Amino acid sequence: MSPPRVAVVGSGPAGVFCAQILAEDPAFDGGVDVFERLPAPFGLVRYGVAPDHQKIKSIIASLSEVFEQERVRFLGNVTVGADITVEEIRRHYDAVIIAHGAPLDRRLGLPGEELGGVIAARNFVSWYSGHPDASFDPSVLSTERAVVIGVGNVALDVARMLVRTPDELRRTDVPEHVVDALAGHSVREVCVVGRRGPEAARFTLKELLELSNVEGADLVVDPADLRLTPEREAVLSGRPAARRVFAALEKIAERPAAHRARSVRLLFDRTPLEFTGQGTLSGISLARTSDPTRVEQLATGLALPAVGYRSAPLAGVPFDDATGTVPHRDSRVLDGDVTVPGLYVVGWAKRGPSGVIGTNRLCASETSAAVLADLASVPARSTDSEDVDSLLRSRGVAVVDWKRWQAIETAEGALGLETGRNRVKLHSRTALLAAAGITQERTAADTGTALPAS
Ligand SMILES: Cc1cc2nc3c(=O)[nH]c(=O)nc-3n(C[C@H](O)[C@H](O)[C@H](O)COP(=O)(O)OP(=O)(O)OC[C@H]3O[C@@H](n4cnc5c(N)ncnc54)[C@H](O)[C@@H]3O)c2cc1C
Repeated sequence: MSPPRVAVVGSGPAGVFCAQILAEDPAFDGGVDVFERLPAPFGLVRYGVAPDHQKIKSIIASLSEVFEQERVRFLGNVTVGADITVEEIRRHYDAVIIAHGAPLDRRLGLPGEELGGVIAARNFVSWYSGHPDASFDPSVLSTERAVVIGVGNVALDVARMLVRTPDELRRTDVPEHVVDALAGHSVREVCVVGRRGPEAARFTLKELLELSNVEGADLVVDPADLRLTPEREAVLSGRPAARRVFAALEKIAERPAAHRARSVRLLFDRTPLEFTGQGTLSGISLARTSDPTRVEQLATGLALPAVGYRSAPLAGVPFDDATGTVPHRDSRVLDGDVTVPGLYVVGWAKRGPSGVIGTNRLCASETSAAVLADLASVPARSTDSEDVDSLLRSRGVAVVDWKRWQAIETAEGALGLETGRNRVKLHSRTALLAAAGITQERTAADTGTALPAS
């Protein structure tokens, strides 16, 4: 009997934590193959965590160590569901862990959402992160005011990136064309709009203080938005973290304006009603949540809803459309009430888009425990990774393995040196593949048979 083989679909932190936990378990003597549709690993750690959060991104070093082990393989540039199906993978592995994250947007469902200039924050994040599938057109930045809808950490990331100075941006690894577009845009004011009051803000104190300290912009909070009502006091009394955020907002509201070139205004208690414009966005109407008769118009050419991500269905894997997640019981994927043998789920695909990177470690422990328990009770099948390799080869899929990924990293370091920066991301798929030494082979994504880009 050959040792068990486990496949992980997605190389974000949730998937890599699973690979790590399995490979380090003394009872597991098999191998783990991690499939990733992009040529680069690490999911939202590379393509979501803000570029100026290099300390958080340093987790990449420890995630990389997982792939340095011989029994964990990286199979990048392989789209599961297009280059190889889930059914095929299930035939070749004893267990398959779905870790494909939450790559779609939640929508607001408001009139005018289809207007040009209303762009999910995810697209903007993907663009400044150098995601190969980013579809953001920077010409929308030729507006004086941008409106970010939502008051979570992603909303503050987006606002901060819009007002960073060129020097601050050059301390990150964002592509040069992103630095140029963000340095030269016309946005003077970024409004961050929250439906509820400041007591319900979802951003953390750390993110708020960071935004209050950017070099090129004032952070403005209207003291009138911070009036302490008995309801607010009741909410804050049970939540020390929210109390600290509220106290920081009070301090920010009292600060005299420094009249910097740009500003970020936090607007609370505003419910977006509709986006207006003829084909392209020209404004947004907002009503006071606490008094819907008070309606105001904000002129703007760019609205960035930052109201959450959503998982996507993957052919061959049950999906709960209502929650936007893969249904499971104790991490085992459910088809109706019945668990699908050998199929597991982890991370945002399992829990929805909440939690920080560390939350996925706990989630991965649960999923790996289920995999190990089942492998112990069901004898491993006779499987062979060679079969998968030759299947992919026969389809002309150019797999980016760990060595090829390291070649991409070297190229990004070299590009950084050329521009006086530590590292600069390669952002097109062609450039990533060329740096990996792949120029001729084709993938199913190239032939148009792949899943739609997410
Ligand atoms: C904008 C943003 C900023 C964030 N900032 C922070 C932060 O500062 N600190 C923090 O702790 N957390 C942060 N988070 C949260 C953190 O990124 C998530 O908790 C975490 O990335 C979720 O992990 P995951 O592995 O489930 O999904 P993901 O990280 O999304 O990984 C999923 C992977 O699966 C791949 N994939 C998708 N479909 C397929 C397919 N069909 N075949 C093969 N591969 C596929 C994707 O390409 C991706 O690499 C942020 C999140 C966002 C959105």
